[in-house]
Amino acid sequence: MKYDLIVIGGGSGGVACARRSSALGAKVALIEADRLGGTCVIRGCVPKKLLMYASGFKDVFNDAQFYGWQSENYLNFDMEKWQNNKTYEIQRLEKIYTKLLADSGVDVLKGHATIVNPKTVNVNGNKINSQKIMVATGGIPTSHPIPGLNKCMTSNEILELKHLPEKLAVLGSGYISLEFASIFKKLGSDVSIFFRSDFPLRGFDLDIRKRISANFNELGIKLHPMSQIQAIEKHKDYFTLETNTVSENFSEILNGLGRTPNSKNLKLEESGVNLGNNGEILVNDYSQTSQDGIFAIGDVTNRMNLTPVAIAEGRAFAENEFNNKNLLINYDSIASAVFTSPSIGSIGLTENQAIKLNSNQGVKIYESEFKPMRQTFTHSKIRTYMKLIVDSQTDIILGIHLIGPEAPELIQVLAIPFRMKATKSDFDNTIAVHPTSAEELVLMRSLSRSYPTRKSI
Ligand code: FAD
Repeated sequence: MKYDLIVIGGGSGGVACARRSSALGAKVALIEADRLGGTCVIRGCVPKKLLMYASGFKDVFNDAQFYGWQSENYLNFDMEKWQNNKTYEIQRLEKIYTKLLADSGVDVLKGHATIVNPKTVNVNGNKINSQKIMVATGGIPTSHPIPGLNKCMTSNEILELKHLPEKLAVLGSGYISLEFASIFKKLGSDVSIFFRSDFPLRGFDLDIRKRISANFNELGIKLHPMSQIQAIEKHKDYFTLETNTVSENFSEILNGLGRTPNSKNLKLEESGVNLGNNGEILVNDYSQTSQDGIFAIGDVTNRMNLTPVAIAEGRAFAENEFNNKNLLINYDSIASAVFTSPSIGSIGLTENQAIKLNSNQGVKIYESEFKPMRQTFTHSKIRTYMKLIVDSQTDIILGIHLIGPEAPELIQVLAIPFRMKATKSDFDNTIAVHPTSAEELVLMRSLSRSYPTRKSI
């Protein structure tokens, strides 16, 4: 059978791309080597958020007593029960993905795909022909040549645990590492984080990075900045971690040292597809690779490794190739969240980026930092922080950075005015909803600092 499109990979991007292409009249096959749903559903966003919900009850139980609730029984977390319920939920979602693809008329083939040439894919020894090939094979945890690192858990295995780690070391301080550190601390593990830089979350606004550091200290998570991991030794029931500063034993170690585009073993280069230094498939704005007829979307292209981005890239491809549209993704106005405790929401330029990129126009910074009302009775020292970065000449908001409860929910809504190029005056002219934390966003009147225009220097 000859297809109009073969999609390799049944994760967020691949499924969205296959379904939209089929809806637009294309004859589509999707090849998946493992489980439909990919990283997000099986071993990423979804199980992680379900574990985050479990960890969130700690604060509820703690705060409740300050509000008059009396607990007679001490509540224990049963990780095995969580694991069983999570497994059931993921199987349910996997079935939904299978049904959605079948209902969309997409042929699903199970097996590991390799590219034979720009019009042929091999799966299980069968050669399948297609007008176009879409590579949506995602990313995998990065392996480093650190002795013993391959014996540690990655995000894949930590989500399969049936017991709570007693003493957990988290290596790396990207968003996935921080989320697991925060979750397991709240669930009751003793948690340490080892990372190379001075503050965690490289790439985020410095004020957010400093505050997540302070908040994690407050929560009792042990931070080891400026660490170089040298070796890990696995013993019968514990690990010894050697860094430039410590030698310490842990019951479990999470390798959170990043993710790598999953582009190996596809025979991409033999088919004329150029890869970048980290193995990412190089694509243009239309997700076209260097080889005519072969496209790539999602984490394997290492553009912005988030589920909604992979989905948007997949749908844009379908509309452009099968519906004569000319859709491009605007990567500058995509919000992101970190599901730590407290959580983080971010969109647009960081303060440092704005100073560099907007130096002709000038930049104004507005901030608000406060104890959330819910914490009035409790002894928590964790504070909420909000920052607006504004173009001094046009008044347009260039960046929004939040740390505090519900920051991911807030930043999703703020992404709409941000995309519409809302000004600081638009925020100021909006009447507050009281009493909320979000009202601070429309009540920031005093300037924290500003950076001059070049002309005025
Ligand atoms: P994937 O979803 O990884 O799918 C790729 C698929 O291709 C896989 O199913 C794989 O089995 C298959 N495959 C690979 N090679 C072959 C082959 N040769 N033949 C056939 N099939 C193949 N993003 C968010 O937006 N929010 C979050 O909160 C969030 N949390 C995350 C938490 C964790 C722990 C992780 C690891 C990731 C998280 N992400 C999150 C990122 C998100 O999961 C990815 O950006 C998204 O899944 C990328 O989709 P994709 O389609 O590119 O690849």
